[in-house]
Amino acid sequence: MGFFDKIRAGFARFMSGRTGVDQLSYAMVIAALVMTIIGGIAGIGLLTLMADALILLAFYRMLSKNHLKRAQENAEYLQKTQKLRRAVTEWVNRVKNSKKYRYFTCPKCKARLRVPRGVGSVTITCKSCGNKFDKKA
Ligand SMILES: [Zn+2]
Repeated sequence: MGFFDKIRAGFARFMSGRTGVDQLSYAMVIAALVMTIIGGIAGIGLLTLMADALILLAFYRMLSKNHLKRAQENAEYLQKTQKLRRAVTEWVNRVKNSKKYRYFTCPKCKARLRVPRGVGSVTITCKSCGNKFDKKA
């Protein structure tokens, strides 16, 4: 067994039975990085201090062996941020596909609809309420 295999095996032994990285820990680390950068640029010491505390808390969660409690915290985080995470995903997809599609909002039910670009004037039928309206795509 080589040196790196020993390190890898030792780390695996150390991490066995521990929670590891979940969505909440990951979000905490990202938030801490953002806080460190902003705190550093703006010279806000309190923000970088809070970021350090957040990192410690994130590592505490990753190394914790209380799976039930950590899973509950993660589930609560996922449930509370569901709308925000969906909105971010939707926005990212919209930016990614902006060359292929044009996006419209149904005037009646506010549903988001997409139409392939370059089809000219079209009558759009809303998928959720059946409302029809004309647009240029
Ligand atoms: Zn509609």
